Amino acid sequence: MTEGTCLCGTVRFVADEVRDMAHCHCSMCRKHHGAPFATMARVAAEAFRWTAGEEAIRHCESSPGFRRSFCGVCGSSLPDRSPSGGWFVPAGLFAADPGVRPVVHIFRAHRAPWHTIADELPGFDAWPPRRDRPVIERPPPADPVESGALRGSCLCGAIAYEVTEPFMRVHNCHCSRCRRARAAAHTTNGFTSVDGLRFVRGEDLAVTWRLPGARFFAHAFCRVCGSGVPRRDPDRGIALIPMGSLDDDPGRRVDRHIFVGSRAPWYDFEDDLPTFEEAAP
Ligand SMILES: [Zn+2]
Ligand SMILES: [Zn+2]
Ligand SMILES: [Zn+2]
Repeated sequence: MTEGTCLCGTVRFVADEVRDMAHCHCSMCRKHHGAPFATMARVAAEAFRWTAGEEAIRHCESSPGFRRSFCGVCGSSLPDRSPSGGWFVPAGLFAADPGVRPVVHIFRAHRAPWHTIADELPGFDAWPPRRDRPVIERPPPADPVESGALRGSCLCGAIAYEVTEPFMRVHNCHCSRCRRARAAAHTTNGFTSVDGLRFVRGEDLAVTWRLPGARFFAHAFCRVCGSGVPRRDPDRGIALIPMGSLDDDPGRRVDRHIFVGSRAPWYDFEDDLPTFEEAAP
């Protein structure tokens, strides 16, 4: 039995048994989680139950027949019914090691241009074969804007923004807070100057949830769809962009992994990026 919770702890669930796990690179997972990819555990219908906070769950239809759920308080992506009647559970929410490891990458063709797949697992460009599933279209690449700004948006499109200054750094953060907030193996955040972020629409729809007792940690999300969205941190003079919400290719890759000392037990990676047990010096 494995318990799971959202970042704020309001919504809780139990999975008696995890069948298998897969990393999904589809653009909807990237946007909803604000992360490079989502890792979904499959749990049978009878093996899953909510244990607290069901009234805080919000839903958004991401495409016909597909629903995405999130905590209305903190914005963590939450488990949802799979088309076959079981549950898709974002592994980033598990409180302990479920004892199962991801076996495959799916929607590899949708991979974020700035993300390198860092393991040897097999992969499929879309769904695995022999599955009768709705087609997920890859959004066509947008024409670049003349200013060179990078555009991004949430899954429902209510929030859109531009990044007008270069990223000072881009981190894969494996800390337990980021994993819960994004309900993913790790987050990838880009940092720019506080004036380098401009909301094009929907800024008033962004909710910022602050972790009690933490100096800086907060999670911003769209109140309509739950996607991770950018936020400004004027105290630190920065704006923080969840790279999964970018629509344009930033033309650069990730700089480093941080907080690998607290990485998910089910996520193995091997790439050539520098790694730091905690924060980068
Ligand atoms: Zn929550
Ligand atoms: Zn997906
Ligand atoms: Zn939205």
